[in-house]
Amino acid sequence: MKIRLFKPSLDNKELGAVKKVFNKSWIGMGNEVNTFENNWKKYLGCKHAYALNSGTAALHLALKTLNFKKNQKVLVPSLTFASSATCILYNQLKPVFVDTNQNYTMCFDDLKKKYTKDCVAIIIVHYAGNPAELEKIIPWARKKKLKVIEDCAHTDGSYYKGKRLGLWGDIGCFSFEEKKILTTGDGGMICSNNKNVLKNIKSERWVGIDKNNWKSALNYLKKNKDAYHWFYEINHLGYKYNMNDLSASIGIEQLKKIKKFRIKRRNIINRYKNGIKSLKNIKPIFNYNPNKYTYWLFAISCERRDELIIFLKSKGIATGCHYTPLTSQPLFKKYKNNCNTSEKIMNKTITLPLHLDLSDREIDYIVAQLKKFEKTYF
Ligand SMILES: *Cc1c(COP(=O)(O)O)cnc(C)c1O
Repeated sequence: MKIRLFKPSLDNKELGAVKKVFNKSWIGMGNEVNTFENNWKKYLGCKHAYALNSGTAALHLALKTLNFKKNQKVLVPSLTFASSATCILYNQLKPVFVDTNQNYTMCFDDLKKKYTKDCVAIIIVHYAGNPAELEKIIPWARKKKLKVIEDCAHTDGSYYKGKRLGLWGDIGCFSFEEKKILTTGDGGMICSNNKNVLKNIKSERWVGIDKNNWKSALNYLKKNKDAYHWFYEINHLGYKYNMNDLSASIGIEQLKKIKKFRIKRRNIINRYKNGIKSLKNIKPIFNYNPNKYTYWLFAISCERRDELIIFLKSKGIATGCHYTPLTSQPLFKKYKNNCNTSEKIMNKTITLPLHLDLSDREIDYIVAQLKKFEKTYF
């Protein structure tokens, strides 16, 4: 038995969509990107959404577009993927790491403790798809006049207290990297209901070029307008962060399957939960509620983490560890502060395989190995 940790779920639908794009011979940014954005806006229920080539790009532009002064501070969880915090460094801002609570999301008490007057924004991560305590964090952040970015890389935008994840703050950033809930190979989406906040994203994602402004530029050109269809104006520094039609065509098909994906993830997690509920030394990391939320990863907590990883590997089961707290990473040494809970709980956390092609037989096999491990090692 060889069981992968993650695996994209793709079939003839995506292949057909890619073929169609091939036949058009237009594989760069075009109509497929527009369609994907429109479908995404309908799905999430947001007014503005722009497709990018990664979730990292979405985070970078989200902070950039909020236009903070150099060296101002941004609060971010220590227990997250690198991009949640590298986007702060890209913008010449400073990360302030916030510890985790027992649910692996941002600890509200520590957030209040770490806050100082030079903090200007907060990046919230819904770790594994588990919603952060938005009902506490958002009102507090508003009072402090902090801008709020939701890093939604682990969620499909599930409803939390009646409102979709990704629409609680000022900007929501999604990832369609190959391992995430939906994939476009690589890709991301930046979303908001605020008209002003994303107004420059179209040019910021395309090296500063905004095709719409060639029309206004014609007013001062005073030349033969018909000869100037190619003209564009560059007003500010942009990046090459656009999604292309190949990726978007895959995204369109993936989005159509989102309900199916959600049900499959729910069934897998319920099967895991039921399977291991009798175990004393191996537990889900928090109380998974798959009937309510879509989870990107399923992780367990075990004091003998390293031995369990090696044991599962010997049985053909791939595992992971999400994540080494960023406060322990050399890159962020300068910003290290007290995030003891993150560092402690990660020493007993293991990610188990979770992807849509995981069969009941495979899940039962993994559960059986966990039971065997507990019997032998505890
Ligand atoms: C995957 C991920 C990202 C980055 O997404 P990419 O599309 O790979 O750039 C950002 N934040 C978190 C928490 C992630 O897991």
